[in-house]
Amino acid sequence: MKETILCKYGEIVLKGLNKPQFEKALSAEMKRRIAPAGEFDIFHSQSILYLSPKNEECDIDFAVEFAKKVFGIATVARAAECEKNMDAIIKTAVEYLPEKIRGHKSFKVEGKRGDKRFPLTSPEIAREVGSAVGDLVPEVDVDLKNPEITAIVEIREDCAYIHAGSEKGAGGIPYGSCGKATLLLSGGIDSPVAGYMMARRGALIDAVHFESFPYTSERAEEKVAELASLVCEYTGRMRMKVISLTEIQEEMVKKIDQEYFTLLLRRCMMRLAARAARESGSMALVTGESLGQVASQTMPALVVTDSAVDMPVLRPLIGMDKEEIITIARKIGTFETSIQPYEDCCTVFTPKHPKTRPELEKVLIQEAKVDFEALENKAYEAMRVREIRRAIDN
Ligand code: ATP
Ligand code: MG
Repeated sequence: MKETILCKYGEIVLKGLNKPQFEKALSAEMKRRIAPAGEFDIFHSQSILYLSPKNEECDIDFAVEFAKKVFGIATVARAAECEKNMDAIIKTAVEYLPEKIRGHKSFKVEGKRGDKRFPLTSPEIAREVGSAVGDLVPEVDVDLKNPEITAIVEIREDCAYIHAGSEKGAGGIPYGSCGKATLLLSGGIDSPVAGYMMARRGALIDAVHFESFPYTSERAEEKVAELASLVCEYTGRMRMKVISLTEIQEEMVKKIDQEYFTLLLRRCMMRLAARAARESGSMALVTGESLGQVASQTMPALVVTDSAVDMPVLRPLIGMDKEEIITIARKIGTFETSIQPYEDCCTVFTPKHPKTRPELEKVLIQEAKVDFEALENKAYEAMRVREIRRAIDN
């Protein structure tokens, strides 16, 4: 029996004239992402993306798992495919459905006649298939109102598809369909979530990470690479630029009033990130900041930080509580890695009493004490680039 994977579009169904563009982006992304599961024909019709295995070697379970992490897809179902006549449909259903229904308390079959030329109505299809399948699983009740499992027979343009319900997809809109942004990625909980959230809204993401070796260790950088790789479960791949702040921080600590240290470091990070962003065609920066979380994330501090660059800074977590951010971090699988204790360049040389209500004028006076331009040029020239992939692609 042939199985096909049915991926239903999420928000793209609402797109008007731009829909074909989004569909194209979605197909291309899906093709790349399920490649490790084998060769599939990918085509779309009536707001469904079909993944049809080309040969026996295809691993359907694997493909379903990959497809569930592709943005733009609302639900994913693996289905048995058969000819569009009732004989074939019933034959396939009695072969395919009982093992999926067994072990549940109750079930029902639903018909979905996507092709209105099909001679039976949706309720008629449901009744015939339900009765044939029900005979084979007498221990499972039929419950039309509140079944534990709903099997579905979909009559589509070319074939019929039979499945036992669908799983939730990643939602959002197709990856890369809304322009490129550069994520400031630390080893913490927040920034991987911020990257995931912007990617889910269609931003193509690349990352910049700042290290401060030997104050931060090589292992700390590997932790960040691992976080990037976990985000790649949803984005497929990501370029991570690594910039060392060691010399800049050593110079700052000598010359700057310590209460301004964090803010000036953040402005410096923004400038370097914006430079990396421009070079790679990004139009915005993304950070994991959330209002009031720490001293450098009060409104006055954020304003001072932003004024260092002439590029929009997107902060998808700005209005979220830590608890809510952690829930997402757990869901996407980054949390356990994030909480491993490694140092971050933001935490070396940190002042005891950072400014929470900085005034830009005073900040600029402090900033003038260090030749940031020269130091940043040097740091930027020494930048390293790492290509990050999903674990499966390594
Ligand atoms: P997280 O590190 O999980 O983002 P946090 O609460 O530790 O959260 P901060 O250290 O205050 O946040 O940093 C705020 C934001 O600045 C981060 O979300 C991230 O976008 C950026 N950032 C911090 N440290 C680095 C770093 N070493 N490299 C790149 N970006 C960083
Ligand atoms: Mg951090």
